[in-house]
Amino acid sequence: VHIQLQTRSKLFCRCPAGFGAPANTQTCPVCLGHPGTLPVVNRRAVALAARLGFAVGGRVHRRSLFARKHYFYPDLPKGYQITQFESPLCEGGAIPILVEGGEREIRIKRIHLEEDAGKMSHPEREGQRDSSVDFNRGGVPLAEIVSEPELRSPSEAAAYLAAVRQLVQYLEISGGRMEMGHLRCDANVSIRRRGSLEMNPRTELKNLNSIKNVEKGIEAEIIRQHLIRRGGGPVTHMTLLWDQVAGGVRSMRSKEERPDYRYFPEPDLPPLVLDDELLKHAQREAGELPWDIRRRFQEDWNLPAADAERLTRTRPDACDFQSLVVQLSAGDGRGSDAEQAVKTAANWVIGDLRRILRRVLREEGPCARRPAPQAMAAFLRLVMDRVISGDTARAVLEVMVQTGRPADQIVKEQGLALINDEATIRGWIAEVLNNNPDAVEEYLAGKAVLKSYFVGCVMRRSDGKACPRTVAMILTEDLAFRKAKGGE
Ligand code: ZN
Ligand code: MN
Repeated sequence: VHIQLQTRSKLFCRCPAGFGAPANTQTCPVCLGHPGTLPVVNRRAVALAARLGFAVGGRVHRRSLFARKHYFYPDLPKGYQITQFESPLCEGGAIPILVEGGEREIRIKRIHLEEDAGKMSHPEREGQRDSSVDFNRGGVPLAEIVSEPELRSPSEAAAYLAAVRQLVQYLEISGGRMEMGHLRCDANVSIRRRGSLEMNPRTELKNLNSIKNVEKGIEAEIIRQHLIRRGGGPVTHMTLLWDQVAGGVRSMRSKEERPDYRYFPEPDLPPLVLDDELLKHAQREAGELPWDIRRRFQEDWNLPAADAERLTRTRPDACDFQSLVVQLSAGDGRGSDAEQAVKTAANWVIGDLRRILRRVLREEGPCARRPAPQAMAAFLRLVMDRVISGDTARAVLEVMVQTGRPADQIVKEQGLALINDEATIRGWIAEVLNNNPDAVEEYLAGKAVLKSYFVGCVMRRSDGKACPRTVAMILTEDLAFRKAKGGE
């Protein structure tokens, strides 16, 4: 997987690395490969790649080498790419992926730094096929992460890619958006007999610009290889392109044309040596990783695995939830109820909040705002203290998302609070029971279902404002009292 690193400038020159500028306006003699120019390594790019290395638990080498990888293509003006070959920045490590039934570790072979090539396009002008190249992307820093051949199915490949995307976003080293080309995956596929340990010739799939396409492309390639093998033919090493429209793969180049890159150490760059400061900083910046936070949520708060996964998809999501729980469970003696607070918070964040956010975003556009943890905590406190009913709560949350106003203000303004005052509720109950002497008689004679009828009457009497739980509680008490008195 090639990961485009988020730096301001390119890997070996001062040109801006950003996108969206007119074609060929972010170039200089260095990234255009003019003779006599010299590359200088971007320290920030090295630091970001080292951060990734530490995050996967790999060995980040203090000393590594750049190399030239030679091939001819119009998007590569030097005729070679500066990359790392024999001596990469990082080796080893692993990334846990989520598969059915839990986690599985996929080992990492290596992570190396290299420059991106320019971008070719082939627009049609007046019926003529044209070819253009934009060198703005040429020289943008990439970290290439290579896994061991341990992924066993298209869905595992998809899970791995999702994990890489989540990781680079957590680490803030890349935008991580496949459709934008921040992440580019080349999938190597080979099949073997079940139980065999033999590694058969593999093919390489390119042009996979979404996780869905990676999954589909590998599925198609497995079937293609299977048919060849069943027909008695050998699978030969080749590069294939996934054709999204046709839903199949087609050959890009075969074994005969398989290039020999003639790697050799880059003579224009000294060995890449990382100093203590950079190493220490990169290690610290790796911070707490998505899988660590996921496990912590599960273990500390007894959250189901699926909930923990949902709540930690992005770092802001995980941070928000963390501070929501802290606010909700501390400060007002609720410490012992922390687990209940977590459960309530998780249900609302995963369920109604997500649904409401999505709907408001769709219907009213970007004015939809996600309540800050503090606002969300204040809202949930109203729910947990039964100041508002569940249905009212959903309506209040929707207004919060639409307007950004605090829950208690909305509740007060619209008179949505439930009546919990005991004396008031007792008065209504007495009124209802006194007005229905026959029903009370029947109830006391054993017709227990009448209790819900009484609750309904009290609720109507209160215009729906009484807290149904409090009503039921006091009513039970009152009826029990009458029963005891009747039996005397
Ligand atoms: Zn440049
Ligand atoms: Mn590469």
